[in-house]
Amino acid sequence: MSRREPRIVEVAVPSPLYRGFDYRLASGMPTPAAGCRVKVPFGRRQLVGIVLQVKAESDLPRAKLKPVAEILDSSPTLPEELFRLLCWTANYYHHPIGETFSTALPATLRRARPTPADADRGWRLTPGGREQLAAGGGRGKRQAEVLGRLAEHPAGLARDALPVPLSVIKSLQTRGWIAACRLDPEPVQPAPGAVRAQPPRLNEHQQQAVTRIQADAERFGCFLLEGVTGSGKTEVYLQLIAPLLARKRQVLVLVPEIGLTPQLVARFGERFGIPVCTLHSGLSEGQRLQAWRRTGAGEALLILGTRSALFTPLKRPGLLIVDEEHDASLKQQDGLRYSARDLAVWRARQWQIPVVLGSATPSLESLYNVQQGRYVHLRLPRRAGNARPPRLRLIDLRTQTLRALLSEALIRRMREHLAAGDQVLLFLNRRGYAPVLLCHACGWVADCQRCDARMTLHQQQRELRCHHCGSQRPVDPYCPACGSSELLGLGEGTERVEQTLRELFGDYPLRRIDRDTTRRKGALEDALAAAQRGDARILLGTQMLAKGHHFPGVTLVAVLDADRGLFSGDFRAAERLAQQIIQVAGRAGRADRPGEVLIQTHQPEHPLLVQLTTEGYPAFAAAALAERRQAGLPPYACMALLRAEAVNPAPPHEFLQEAAELAAQPGNVQVWGPVSAPMERRAGRYRAQLLLQATRRRDLQQLLDTWVARLDGLKSARRVRWSLDVDPLDTY
Ligand code: ADP
Ligand code: ZN
Ligand code: ZN
Repeated sequence: MSRREPRIVEVAVPSPLYRGFDYRLASGMPTPAAGCRVKVPFGRRQLVGIVLQVKAESDLPRAKLKPVAEILDSSPTLPEELFRLLCWTANYYHHPIGETFSTALPATLRRARPTPADADRGWRLTPGGREQLAAGGGRGKRQAEVLGRLAEHPAGLARDALPVPLSVIKSLQTRGWIAACRLDPEPVQPAPGAVRAQPPRLNEHQQQAVTRIQADAERFGCFLLEGVTGSGKTEVYLQLIAPLLARKRQVLVLVPEIGLTPQLVARFGERFGIPVCTLHSGLSEGQRLQAWRRTGAGEALLILGTRSALFTPLKRPGLLIVDEEHDASLKQQDGLRYSARDLAVWRARQWQIPVVLGSATPSLESLYNVQQGRYVHLRLPRRAGNARPPRLRLIDLRTQTLRALLSEALIRRMREHLAAGDQVLLFLNRRGYAPVLLCHACGWVADCQRCDARMTLHQQQRELRCHHCGSQRPVDPYCPACGSSELLGLGEGTERVEQTLRELFGDYPLRRIDRDTTRRKGALEDALAAAQRGDARILLGTQMLAKGHHFPGVTLVAVLDADRGLFSGDFRAAERLAQQIIQVAGRAGRADRPGEVLIQTHQPEHPLLVQLTTEGYPAFAAAALAERRQAGLPPYACMALLRAEAVNPAPPHEFLQEAAELAAQPGNVQVWGPVSAPMERRAGRYRAQLLLQATRRRDLQQLLDTWVARLDGLKSARRVRWSLDVDPLDTY
């Protein structure tokens, strides 16, 4: 064998390190391609890594290299395009390469054994097992656990999703309580015999959008499809998709939260009469693996998923769609902090296919890209069909008496709409009964012991809960400071508003929809169905209610508290508030009934609210962009945020201080901080941050390239947990 034969592989192992590791191939072992999985020794463990490249030389002498233990794939698990995407992602977000691969791969593929050929095999509960469960479970805790989990998944679960030894499974099978089954890789099927919905004729604006996008069908183009709720964006997607499916091209649709969009999935399924492959966090590992295989093989044509679906392999992609492109949940907030929207644009360029970003309230980033000529702006200015747009009006709370946040003016309008047989929707993004519990005698306030935050009173459960760390404790009948029994709940959450609504409108059925009322599986679908049917006349809810749903019978929408968003320190707060108001307003007056939107505020002269209600979102966005430009803030600058936390307050500051000194360089990148996070203590940990900002992305990236890899070498790094967020959504 010649010395220079490429018998060394560089492998990305799942570890928080920024580089690959070299291994040698034993003689007789075939040479794996980049993107193949290999089993390698790492420290005292064996890990599954991904081959980054095959090479002839290493910085280490060959004798020092450890051998690859096993090659797990004969062809790359990561196809070339996905492999390149992930390398680029790791590089751009400055995240360890091995962890980046791990984020994308289904868990089953990350384990140290070849992918089982029978990955579509699983287990399900038999009728006997169901009886056994009803009678109190199996023999022992582990059997009961398996029966319980299978009961929640009637379609069956993969072996990997059942964390018990094989003996437990076998014994359950012997008793006849569970049976092997084929897992259905397609969780959503069109109803059997369902009549395919006929597409409506597109209106002029919709047709223009479709024509424009189709003109670029075989090359890269990014299209910002802006249209108010009900303007027919989804219909545009559907009519773009139809001809692609006919040619067996794949379409990937990213949505913010799939749990909130059952209607969308159903609509796609009904239109095309084919299964919609849905990808989201609720899938079992078996289903996830199946989906990965089927999308990679080009069998699944229509794929709808949340942000991580962006990393699914596609064989014959034809179109990418990002719905609600402004939504913050498209950006991952821990681990690999990627923006699925931004990566979707990158992927579309790789593939040379169009990508459509849809929203009623586009992000300022995307509008900026339109200004720069990078994206094509397509507008749907009117509601589809005959629907008229809702009217937005401010209610000046300073002149109103309030009952649990309900002004007289609002109550009056509610009575009128309800009497006319219509539905009313109230939006308050604060659950619980009251955000503060206060002692009237001494002023004591119930704080969270682990956060710099107040506990929220949940009256029904007689509990105090922290909405930041999740800790909870029973409400004491007496003040722990002075013993008084006069404890008052201050402020309003949805629970209290519900109580008042029941007093005022007892005759009308009401549904409160928030995280507390929808914890039970199926509860949200239930509530949404009742809202749709019109059974629930008053809908009260948090942002769960504000996104995506169609409530055809709702004619009055009220934003109960618009003030809170006006006082936040984050530079994106105004943008977010405006988006939220317009999104909530979009629920009103679909079909042929005009809607009315009332926004309660103590600041009716606030320029943001005035502009939004009189001129609409596009005018607001233009003004907000001008402000950002003036202030030199994103999208006119780019940012990276280094966060650190520890159980004591000092180490994060020490680490960030050292990091700031390490970054110190004249000129092009500004370093702000370190400063404590706005809520310094959270879940028992103290947090601080350091902000890096540059006008040109190149300058920021250049600094990060050398800086991030050196951070772990700082002495102070050992005493903190740190993370880097490139293009952070929250800087405050
Ligand atoms: P969006 O996604 O912008 O909220 P949709 O595509 O859901 O809008 O359209 C809103 C409603 O109008 C839906 O009920 C849809 O079926 C209907 N619709 C859309 N386009 C048309 C059209 N060209 N003609 C008639 N109805 C339409
Ligand atoms: Zn007291
Ligand atoms: Zn807390």
